[in-house]
Amino acid sequence: MDSRTMWEKVKDITRGHSLWMLYYCTGCGAIELPPTMTSRFDMERFGIGPMATPRQADILLVTGYLSTKTLRRVIYTYEQMQSPKWLVGFGSCTLNGGIYHDSYATINQLDQYLPVDLYLAGCMPRPEVIIKGFKQLMEMIKTGEADGWKQYQDNREWYRKNQKKALGDLLYTTR
Ligand code: SF4
Repeated sequence: MDSRTMWEKVKDITRGHSLWMLYYCTGCGAIELPPTMTSRFDMERFGIGPMATPRQADILLVTGYLSTKTLRRVIYTYEQMQSPKWLVGFGSCTLNGGIYHDSYATINQLDQYLPVDLYLAGCMPRPEVIIKGFKQLMEMIKTGEADGWKQYQDNREWYRKNQKKALGDLLYTTR
């Protein structure tokens, strides 16, 4: 049952049509983003545009494998964003480690550390897949189903435990 008020539903519909995205380009899959955003596929026509700072971004796009050191930066970046916010894992490396599965230096599954609202599988996902996935995310935002930011607040202890397990004291150092 949808517990949102009419006003909240209207806000979610408008949000779903106006999304600013911050790119965290960690892996090789980021090479598919320029054709997706520029004239050939033109993702901006759906209402998704680039944003240079986490403070004003709605979506954080993590494009590939994450070393434990990079994971820390991604956590900091996500936590600087204002809610509501959405996290997209791009490429199989964010989903299950991909070709780096069980490497000593990378994580296997991004959603163990941060709430992923959408995964785009593939190595690397093509623009058609990216657009299809983002259209799905936009629908989920409009219907209120994409609520990873709430889950992060509600299950903060669980996420912190996993983050500490991967990073140890590194989680709180400023270097
Ligand atoms: S999923 Fe493939 S393209 Fe993406 S970061 Fe991993 S190895 Fe690179």
